[in-house]
Amino acid sequence: MAAAYAAYQRRTPRSRALWERARKHAPLGVHSNYRYLEPYPFYVRRAKGTRLWDADENEFLDFNMAFGSLQSGHAHPRLVAALQRQLEDGSIYGYEWDETPSVAETICRRYSMDQVRFSTTGLEATHHAIRMARAFTKRTHVLKFEGGYHGSHDSLLVGVKPPLEAAGPPLRPRSAPAGPGLLAEVTSRTIVAPFNNLAAVRDIVRAYPNDVAAIIVEPIPMNMGFILPDPDFFPGLRALCDEVGALLIFDEVKTGAKYLHGGAGRLGVTPDMMTLGKSIACGIPLSAIAARPGILDQVGPRKVAHAGTYNSNPLAMTACRVSLEEILTEEALQRCSQLNEKLARGYREIFDDAHVIARVAADGVSGTVFFSDHDVRDWRTFLTVDGERSMLYYYLCLNQGVIPSGTGPDEQWTVSVQHTDADVDHHLEVLRSIAPQLTGAPRAGEIEESV
Ligand code: PLP
Repeated sequence: MAAAYAAYQRRTPRSRALWERARKHAPLGVHSNYRYLEPYPFYVRRAKGTRLWDADENEFLDFNMAFGSLQSGHAHPRLVAALQRQLEDGSIYGYEWDETPSVAETICRRYSMDQVRFSTTGLEATHHAIRMARAFTKRTHVLKFEGGYHGSHDSLLVGVKPPLEAAGPPLRPRSAPAGPGLLAEVTSRTIVAPFNNLAAVRDIVRAYPNDVAAIIVEPIPMNMGFILPDPDFFPGLRALCDEVGALLIFDEVKTGAKYLHGGAGRLGVTPDMMTLGKSIACGIPLSAIAARPGILDQVGPRKVAHAGTYNSNPLAMTACRVSLEEILTEEALQRCSQLNEKLARGYREIFDDAHVIARVAADGVSGTVFFSDHDVRDWRTFLTVDGERSMLYYYLCLNQGVIPSGTGPDEQWTVSVQHTDADVDHHLEVLRSIAPQLTGAPRAGEIEESV
């Protein structure tokens, strides 16, 4: 790892200087904790297509794609043209734009929902969704899954990435707050359950028979790497919610635009509510709270609060319309998915040849590598991943000009519509060259809470 850091530092002197300046005025020199890197983060100058250039003019082939926010790839020409046109007509009006109804129709049609309210970030969407669910059910508690991340707000900064010592019993995890500053009165109303374990979820929910307003979950968890659920897990959750009168909220901030009809479409399970973000507007801040009939009827003045100066601003609406209708078409996503299969197959072959102990999980347009000798299916098995080796793989790729995925073993790669066969070949070439440095028995640990 020391040699990988040293090579990184040799390539990035300007980033280092920028970081020295930046950290005088911003903690860690970044404006989102997830962006911090050891020994210092690199700073980006520009990006286009599948490439990104840092302040030192190093070129990177990018498979992070802004943590999945750029299914379109960088600076997609259609988006650029549409946004330029819209800027001429104004960026925000303080009134609804006459095109917004048609964007709302697009969302409802694509995700089989009845109503929608737009917000700006994923954080806001899950925050508002929970308030709406509480108001609709007149209940207080929400259940989330251990290892799940739904944005940086108090109700859901619970059981996010707890170390084993803080996590409590595996079948009855503690409501462990993700850090200081969170009120116990709030976090104690967030119940935590193990993912992929229906029997345990049932036991936990039945212990709060009249309290659970909602279960919130990513249909395909993408904040524990990449986990495809057991086939009976979501049908079982759906039935459990119906049995106890809780709403099922799919947090599709990541998954929503990675599958044509979101994770719900991929799994064939219909939630009561859905939160969307990231690639629904490919790089322009936009989120959405969508719901089946009835639930959003209670939103309004002196009813359930939902407001935001930047909600449904014309730039975000334009980006959403172009992203969903013109860029992330069925055909384009199909092509990404074929490239993704090729990438995942290449990873498995290279690791087999080089005797690297790892599990590769992939589906749709994304995938990840777990340096573990266990199948990862929930947070506790995620903790078997060798965090240091994960970061070594990441830096070895970075030093050869490939960003292999989002940062950290809890992230995944994104194959955007602008990635080509040649990009996938190059990614695999770099992987093959570094694979001999990734051998040996994986050692669990070194995974840090980074919210
Ligand atoms: N929900 C999920 C599943 C996420 O992955 C994220 C962010 O990564 C969020 C919500 C929060 O979104 P934002 O960062 O836009 O607030």
